[in-house]
Amino acid sequence: MKIRCPKCKSDAELSPDFSLVKCGSCDLEMSYGEYVKFVAHNESRYSDILGDYATSTEGQTSGSLDEWD
Ligand SMILES: [Zn+2]
Repeated sequence: MKIRCPKCKSDAELSPDFSLVKCGSCDLEMSYGEYVKFVAHNESRYSDILGDYATSTEGQTSGSLDEWD
């Protein structure tokens, strides 16, 4: 399965069992877990999505947290 290499932005190959990410263009080779961390670290947009998600989750539960205000 082709995914985007976080290092050189070329096509990297994700092994069918999701265990290994390999890029032929820059010799990147890491586990999928490391890949996810790497991408999360390097793509601020990804972090923003997580931030928005956390905010909206807080909004849904704010009614029970009024006593903390
Ligand atoms: Zn690469």
